[in-house]
Amino acid sequence: MLDLTSLTELLDKPQKIVITTHHKPDGDAMGSSLGLYHYLIQLGHHVQVIAPTDYPDFLAWMPGNENVIIYTETIEQSARLIAEANLIFCLDFNNLSRINEMGELVRASAAYKVMIDHHLEPEDFDDYRHWNINACATAQLVYDFIVNSLHKKELVNKDVATCLYTGILTDSASFRLPNTTSEVHRIVADLIDAGAVNWRIHELIYNSASENRLRFLGHCLANRLEILPEFNTALIWVTKEDLAKYDSNTGDTEGIVNYALSIGSIRLAAFIVDRRDKVKLSLRSKGEFPASDICKRYFDGGGHRNAAGGQSTLSLDDTIAKFKSILPEYKKLLIQ
Ligand code: 5GP
Ligand code: MN
Repeated sequence: MLDLTSLTELLDKPQKIVITTHHKPDGDAMGSSLGLYHYLIQLGHHVQVIAPTDYPDFLAWMPGNENVIIYTETIEQSARLIAEANLIFCLDFNNLSRINEMGELVRASAAYKVMIDHHLEPEDFDDYRHWNINACATAQLVYDFIVNSLHKKELVNKDVATCLYTGILTDSASFRLPNTTSEVHRIVADLIDAGAVNWRIHELIYNSASENRLRFLGHCLANRLEILPEFNTALIWVTKEDLAKYDSNTGDTEGIVNYALSIGSIRLAAFIVDRRDKVKLSLRSKGEFPASDICKRYFDGGGHRNAAGGQSTLSLDDTIAKFKSILPEYKKLLIQ
């Protein structure tokens, strides 16, 4: 275990540091990792960000992206860096299964492990924890850690601010989710003051799609959207053939679930996609409805109350049938 004083002392001297984040990193995963990276390199540490898998092109513009390595493409190098590190920061996840095979390498490393995260039910693998499920993004917690735990607000430079802004923007669904508190807006204002160019970041994230991606979205909305009015639930499903036909790449399906949730009466929206090795589910909900509960109990997953994910080894059709069969159990919560 590590207390804040010992961690601060460690960070006073140059260390070998690895920062990692969850499988298929999203905006918060990459934004919080690179935000922390830009903070730590100012202190003279040797810092390596390792993503367990690839991530979407619309995140690849972030400052420091050129120094990120992807575990699946650098297995030996990554394993050595993890084994030799003194400190490993685990960002935006709290269970080592979320980083695939890397999880056991991190567990076996003698490095101190620092978890910065906002997901429910953390696994006990860390030595120091900056964890709060009420935070709208891990990037918010990285800001809080730098400013309020380490008292280094002056080191929040343009690069730190740009990356943390991106994490908060994407995980709060553009400042829309209930956890976007006044405190979040104050932090975002500080990040803009520190150099984050908010309109440009919005453009890079949301207005940088390909024509294919827009036509794929059209296909999903026209042909793959199913409404279950008796459960105030909407679902969009995507086959392997759909992905191939529209040449859908990592990240092209991101956010499509929100269109299903945009219907006024809908309280629960699901996006179910047939990936190469498994069927992936993304759930979104409004208000108090616990999307994470369904993912955790039935789909080997988890997440947050209003945004959760999971998977299934059943066929696409059987996964859709299983999802529908669960809804009667939640009917009271869905129709209130
Ligand atoms: P998304 O639907 O965007 O993939 O994920 C929404 C939220 O659920 C994210 O916070 C993500 O970390 C979490 N999540 C997605 N898939 C899984 C999963 O397979 N297991 C767990 N524990 N969480 C997941
Ligand atoms: Mn997050």
